[in-house]
Amino acid sequence: MKNKFPYIFSLALIIIAFLAWSTVFGLEGRKLNFYVLDIGQGDAIFIETPTKNQILIDGGPDNSVLEELGEVMPFHDRSIDVVMMTHPNLDHVAGLVDVLKNYDVKYFVDTDDGYYLAGYEELKKIIREKNITRIKAERGARIILDRGVELTILHPDKLVSGDPNQNSVVAKLSFGEIDFLLTGDAEKGEELKLAQGEDNLESEVLKVGHHGSKTSSNPLFLEKVKPDYALISVGAKNRYGHPTKQVLEALEEVGAQIFRTDLDSRIHLESDGESLTVVK
Ligand SMILES: [Zn+2]
Repeated sequence: MKNKFPYIFSLALIIIAFLAWSTVFGLEGRKLNFYVLDIGQGDAIFIETPTKNQILIDGGPDNSVLEELGEVMPFHDRSIDVVMMTHPNLDHVAGLVDVLKNYDVKYFVDTDDGYYLAGYEELKKIIREKNITRIKAERGARIILDRGVELTILHPDKLVSGDPNQNSVVAKLSFGEIDFLLTGDAEKGEELKLAQGEDNLESEVLKVGHHGSKTSSNPLFLEKVKPDYALISVGAKNRYGHPTKQVLEALEEVGAQIFRTDLDSRIHLESDGESLTVVK
């Protein structure tokens, strides 16, 4: 049945958490932790805000995400505030099924792409059964994750049919002066559109598009982003040849330091909103 389970918001400001002004001084020394999880060929990014709100973006290709979450989350913690799916491809979706089954999730953010994927259908079934609030990811939506921590959806503007990569969510996570640009599997066409648009794309951290495939990382886009760190989520000896030499060179060209999960395993960055440290 269509629209049986509509989204609560569209083009809206969604506030997951907002601390009282009086508690601002209590934030001293608290950090945002950002992880690219080591889940093989796929994407799974886990973020914990200064007051411990958590968001998972994509779940990787299988249940290895559960083991990784066990490493970065406290043992007793069985809930995740927000889960976002960038697009319905198995290397981003399959692990999310296990996450939704095993954790209490408050909000699920996705584009409602009409592309058929059995894993996506299963996710939607669990979302209905568990009564998880669904938020539509579309350009203009802003999710406040914590005081001073905001996720802004830059893409998609409107969905196209056919290739889910073209509808992949591109979002900017900002904490104080530090920005993380998260591109899912968006490709050169989407990147170019953003590079030619009005958004300020400049970010300290870029999650490189589509596992370092040559179909992403448009040089014009990279120049606009000017990342200090380029993070590539990719499986060791994957059959696609990701990341490509071409992309690695383009990233070096803009002066980015590259980290990749196939060589560096889990990548962990932390920030106080002013500076950024690579923990590993
Ligand atoms: Zn992918």
